[in-house]
Formats: sequence, C-alpha cells, structure tokens
Amino acid sequence: AAPEAGPAPRIAVIGTGYLGATHAAAMAALGFDVVGFDTDPEKTRALSLGKVPFYEPGLDALLSEQVEAGRLRFTTDVADAVGDADVHFICVGTPQQPGSNAANLSYVEAATRAVAEHLTRDGVIVGKSTVPVGTAARLREVVAQHAPDGVDAELVWNPEFLREGKAVEDTLHPDRIVIGGVSERSEALLRRVYARPIAAGAPVIVCDLPTAELVKVSANAFLATKISFINAVASVCEAAGADVTVLADAIGLDPRIGRKFLDAGLGFGGGCLPKDIRALMHRSGELGAYRMAGLLQKVDEINMGQREAVVALALAACDGSVLNKSIGVLGAAFKPETDDVRDSPALNVAAALHLRGAQVKVFDPAASETARRTFPTLTYVSSTEDAVEATDVVLVLTEWKQFVEADPAMLAALTPTPRVIDARGKLDPAAWRAAGWEFRGLGRPTA
Ligand code: NAD
Repeated sequence: AAPEAGPAPRIAVIGTGYLGATHAAAMAALGFDVVGFDTDPEKTRALSLGKVPFYEPGLDALLSEQVEAGRLRFTTDVADAVGDADVHFICVGTPQQPGSNAANLSYVEAATRAVAEHLTRDGVIVGKSTVPVGTAARLREVVAQHAPDGVDAELVWNPEFLREGKAVEDTLHPDRIVIGGVSERSEALLRRVYARPIAAGAPVIVCDLPTAELVKVSANAFLATKISFINAVASVCEAAGADVTVLADAIGLDPRIGRKFLDAGLGFGGGCLPKDIRALMHRSGELGAYRMAGLLQKVDEINMGQREAVVALALAACDGSVLNKSIGVLGAAFKPETDDVRDSPALNVAAALHLRGAQVKVFDPAASETARRTFPTLTYVSSTEDAVEATDVVLVLTEWKQFVEADPAMLAALTPTPRVIDARGKLDPAAWRAAGWEFRGLGRPTA
C-alpha cells in the first residue's frame, strides 16, 4: 500500500540515549505510536516510568505525557520493538574507539542486524547515528544478509542535528531534514513521519547515502573549526593586548561570518564534536583526503591546547604551583543546560588541577552527579557561594547563566584573595574588577 494512504506508520527507535529518547518522545508527540528499544534495562525501566535518565530541558514533561497517553513505550525485547513497526530509527552510540581516532561502529552494526533479523514485514531502517562516510553502504549489506526472505527491507540515512540543551525544540523544529539514499516509497514514508516540521517550513534535502553521512560530520567539523579559529585569534589578541570578545562581536556582525560559535575560551567538548571531528579525520585519511585530515588535526590540537592554557592561567594565579591551594570551579558540564560531562573541558581542567595537588571544589547546577561518577575524587559542593568561599582562585569553566549573572561584589566578600579566571569569556571584566577581583580571561587584556 502507498504510505500516504492507510494507517499511520508505526515507529521503532533503536537505542534510547540522548538522541533516541528525545526522538522517540518527539515522534510520539507528532502523533505516532512509538516503541523505544535499548539494551540497557535500567534506562529502559526509567523511561517506561516516564522518567528521563539525564537532564534535558522540556524532555521530562514531553516523555511522561506521551507515555501516559499510551503512544510511547519502551522495551528491552528487540522482537517486541521491531515486530510491529514500519520505520526503524537507529539511534545507538558511535563513540571514539580507545586508542584510535576512529569511530566504534559495533553498536550500529549490531542494532542494524538485530532490526533486520526481527523484521516481520516490509520496513524502512533509518540511520540517525553519526557515522563515517561509507558506513551506510556497508550496513545495506548487513540488512540484505539478515532480513528474512520475502520481506522488503530498505536502509536509508537521516542524520540528526539536535543540540543537547535544546534537543526537544530542535527535534520538533529542525533547521533541515536530510534524507539520503531513499526510494520513492521510503521518501514518501519519511515525508509522512516529518509532515508537521515540513509543513512548518523545515527544508528537506534528498541526497545519496554518502552525502547524507557527510553533511552531518561536515557541519560539526565546520563548527569545531570556527571555535578553534577564534581561539587562535584569541592567542594573537592576548599577545597584542587586544580583546577577543569585542573582536568577535565586530566580525560576527558580518552575516557571512555570524556571531554564533565565536566565543573564545576553553573550547568544545561533549559526546559529539570531539569524537566526530576525530572520526572524520580518521576517515578522511583512509580515503586519502589528507587536507581535511590535516585541517581537523590542527582544529583538535588548538582545542585541546585551550585546556592547557586555562590550567596555566590557574598556575600563574597561584604563583606557579597549585599544591594545596584551594580552587573553586564553577561548571562541570561540557556546556550549560545539560548534565553531560562526556569529554567535558571543565571537568578535564578541574581534574588536571586536582592531579597537581590542588584542593578543587566543583559546583555545577545540573552535572554534579554525572561528574562525580566520572571523577569521584573531586569535591562537589552545592552552591556557587560554597565553591567560591575561601579560595585562592575561582575558575568559571561552564557558562551557566547563574555564573554569568552572579553578583561579583557578594562573591568577593567570601574569599580573602578574590581572583577569577573566566574561561568562557562571558563575565564583564570591568564589573568584576570594580568589585575587587583580579580578573583574567583568555584573549583579553590583563587590566
Ligand atoms: P548515548 O550513549 O546517550 O545513547 C546510545 C544508546 O544506545 C544507549 O542507551 C545504549 O544503551 C544504546 N545501545 C547500544 N547498543 C545498542 C543496541 N545494539 N541496541 C539497542 N540499543 C543499544 O548516545 P547519544 O548521545 O544518544 O548518541 C547516539 C548517536 O547519535 C551517536 O552516533 C551520536 O553521535 C549521534 N548524535 C548525538 C547527538 C547528541 O546531542 N547527543 C546529536 C546528534 C547526533
């Protein structure tokens, strides 16, 4: 039957982490029957109760609403998830392999194979995970090998661009929908699934499989390059006595450049950008595209260097040694509005100072628990005031609104030596200095 006619397609979401849980809840909110499948029983149990096992603004409400409405359920039984569905979104992780820049594709391969094996009727398998170019073509062979005879199984790619912290909004109102490698049937099916965002104006880009895979990683590579570019400019500013935040505002007004992703500072982290640029670096090298590999090598190097630069500023603020010094760290999450500490620059700097013998107190409004699991040896406190009190130096490492808007005069009264290092370029140096703070930022004049 033509997908436009007949009953609404039923949806399975394979892998219900940050991406999958959000996608499943959003698809249910669009009116579809959705089953989420994950191999992690604890995660599945929480989601089944309508609870999001991580912090993502707005997702809790959306998820519990859809679970209660009976449109959304979760299972650890793949046959149960796949059996009744027409569209199968693959949302499992593609982390960096230990000791290599390459992506670990074992989860995507296992998930695709499991879906193919359990198909009971024609189905479209839609890859959403971020994968190296060429992966989808290989997965097509996996599907061809494992799908039961007589079942028409198609594999297409539909990369995901959501931002953590804005995941719900991004899923319901995407900037664009990229669908790669579709047939007439699967394109119609996906246009039906995304009918609401398309009607609201989201452009649809239909392309081949490798282009779809590359759109995603190139977008991330561009964003990463933009951040490392401004951080390189910051180093010139610092040497020349210029102010990179004013410079960024000025160049950002050129619409060809744009102000977003132009904040100099501690650099990027998280579960996506670092591993995605490394995977692209690796894949480009494999394909002999050495200019891309070389560019990204430099982008990564500059980015990781920012963490060292902030540690160096902390050392300088403590006369060369942080041994037994008390250091207040504001922020552990890799960015505000998330509890995600995967490859978090903030936590990395906090841990580096701890290893050098400092007494490090960390406060994060959402990520203390996830940070504690990663770095249990750091001390976690429960307010900005606790983190600042009686310290030798305070580091602002994640630009949570409450840190940016904190009252410098009130905080200055809490510590005998008010010294602050603004590693995100979001504090107002004049206001902090007027309140008695010795202020240092990256790429900003020293006084
Ligand atoms: P995640 O680690 O939060 O979630 C992955 C989930 O997959 C886990 O819950 C894990 O238990 C599950 N899983 C692993 N193997 C499985 C299998 N064989 N069958 C079923 N479930 C399985 O990761 P994430 O952040 O959601 O990322 C998933 C993918 O989406 C990655 O490729 C990532 O690059 C991409 N992506 C993530 C974001 C983001 O902001 N998090 C944005 C765009 C794209």
